[in-house]
Amino acid sequence: MENQRFPEPGQPLVGDPKQALRSVFGYDSFRPLQGDVIEHVVQGGDALVLMPTGGGKSLCYQVPALVMPGTAVVVSPLIALMHDQVEALVQAGVRAACLNSSLSLDEVRAVEAQLQAGTLDLLYVAPERLLHPRTLTLLDQCVLSLFAIDEAHCVSQWGHDFRPEYLQLSQLHERFPAVPRIALTATADERTREEIAERLGLQQARRFISSFDRPNIRYEVAPKNNARQQLLRFLQREHRGDAGIVYCLSRRRVDETAAWLQAQGWNALPYHAGLSAQQRRTHQQRFVSEDGVIMVATIAFGMGIDKPDVRFVAHLDLPRSLEAYYQETGRAGRDGLRAHAWMVYGHQDVVMLRQLLEESAAAAQQKRVERQKLEAMLAYCELIGCRRQHLLGYFGEELAEPCGNCDNCLNPPPTWEATEPARKALSCVYRTGQRFGVAHLVDVLLGKETERIRSLGHDRLSTFGIGTELDAKGWRTLFRQLLALGYLAVDSEGYSTLSLTDRCRPLLRGEQGLELRRDTAARKRSRGSSSEHFVAEVDQQLWDALRACRRQLADAQGVRPYMIFHDATLMELMEKRPASLEELAGIGGVGEAKLERYGAAFLDVLAAYRR
Ligand code: ADP
Ligand code: ZN
Repeated sequence: MENQRFPEPGQPLVGDPKQALRSVFGYDSFRPLQGDVIEHVVQGGDALVLMPTGGGKSLCYQVPALVMPGTAVVVSPLIALMHDQVEALVQAGVRAACLNSSLSLDEVRAVEAQLQAGTLDLLYVAPERLLHPRTLTLLDQCVLSLFAIDEAHCVSQWGHDFRPEYLQLSQLHERFPAVPRIALTATADERTREEIAERLGLQQARRFISSFDRPNIRYEVAPKNNARQQLLRFLQREHRGDAGIVYCLSRRRVDETAAWLQAQGWNALPYHAGLSAQQRRTHQQRFVSEDGVIMVATIAFGMGIDKPDVRFVAHLDLPRSLEAYYQETGRAGRDGLRAHAWMVYGHQDVVMLRQLLEESAAAAQQKRVERQKLEAMLAYCELIGCRRQHLLGYFGEELAEPCGNCDNCLNPPPTWEATEPARKALSCVYRTGQRFGVAHLVDVLLGKETERIRSLGHDRLSTFGIGTELDAKGWRTLFRQLLALGYLAVDSEGYSTLSLTDRCRPLLRGEQGLELRRDTAARKRSRGSSSEHFVAEVDQQLWDALRACRRQLADAQGVRPYMIFHDATLMELMEKRPASLEELAGIGGVGEAKLERYGAAFLDVLAAYRR
């Protein structure tokens, strides 16, 4: 065993994929698609792999890289991610290195020498570096096992992260026709997928498409009602000491929210494009390397953050589309443990996003697409049924049963017959000339004798004072829902005045009814279910001690805590309480190299807390 772990130059590290999985990564079984992809690639086939974030894409090329002779070349767009991956592999005892612009000339030479000596299993490279004539010439002299093209959607102009350098990657096939290629992405949509296949010359490659469901993420949407307090309660209730991201739409809101959380004693940091590059780097660094940091950020933050233990993503403002929402929430729970996608939204969000959209300089066609996307986002918020079914359905995937892990499944929202009040609200908009905002309309419905109403003569309208069945809050909620569901539109001139849309007609004519979800301030907490992972109920002291041990080992080497062991591994330790190295070797995430390096330290901690 010993010399297999630290092999001689030129020796492959392990024999077959299963063995590599166990001895290097410490896992017992492949996830459904992984095994198939790996088998296909090891046999020399090309592959196009689509898996959601956290699905386990890396192993699809890392395992073949270990069992096939030669060096695997991994193309990756982000230097930070590259370093992370290499560091994690080195921790697991794998011979990996990277080549990119952040290395000194000496470092580059050292890596090149290893490459020429055939002592690297994996080489991570930035695309522009790979296509440099010097690198290509070097690769001509090496035995290559495969090319892995990570974040392959970067080749697509339709996708959200186009990188021109990726276009040149089709050269690889021409220059190295015998080397198998595997392209991987978490971007699901059909058009991007076709573009990847075409531009990388992978039309013939076998496609592996996994479900895009993220079953460990719980989706929750609540009506906004003092967002900060709601956030605070959410954190106190569910996420003490956890790492998470809070998204806000504007820089100002990011700064204010971060400062406020800090004042409340939370470990929160701001992140947006208005901060200096140095500040952003420091904050990002702290987020990934410290335990339990809350990043309050605009959407400028997120891309390339590979932190596995982000326990929640909270939206204080509405994303522009379900695509954006799914991508942002997907940053939670990459480690497969329980995670939360939590959002509050209110009618101001709707008004603001609609206005931003109308005012934007985009072409009419583009605006129409964006308007539809926003509408889909709003409909999701007001949904009565399972959110996961709806989300997956939107991305073209069918989920047979309601998920049991979203707010609507756990606590089916009460609904109410809203036809009559909705008609009153809509005709009030009409009678007042479609020129007023929610506050004034509510006053009219409630029959308030304000100065403004009298001077406008609105106290003489037929809708004046007809809205006795709801209070002001109830009417505001109803207007929000009518707006979200597209019965009302916001004025494009910039004011939040409401007007009717075509969709109103069947409702006003009495041809159609309307059932809406009822906003309830304090919905009951979710029923038990997935709390089994939750540490609070188990043994907080042992948990803290395990994390402290991990932290110490990480600090000593200057690496991230999760490079030592993921939270999932620590949780399994709590559960199974191994008492010997043999028992420890059976825990998920404990490969041979880590067993040898860290096993004793963790066994000591466990022994100190023996029950
Ligand atoms: P992706 O690149 O698709 O976002 P990763 O490759 O980073 O996902 O894997 C996500 C997480 O799942 C990692 O923590 C990884 O260690 C874990 N993982 C991957 N494959 C397995 C497996 N077969 N068994 C257990 N854990 C796995
Ligand atoms: Zn559900």
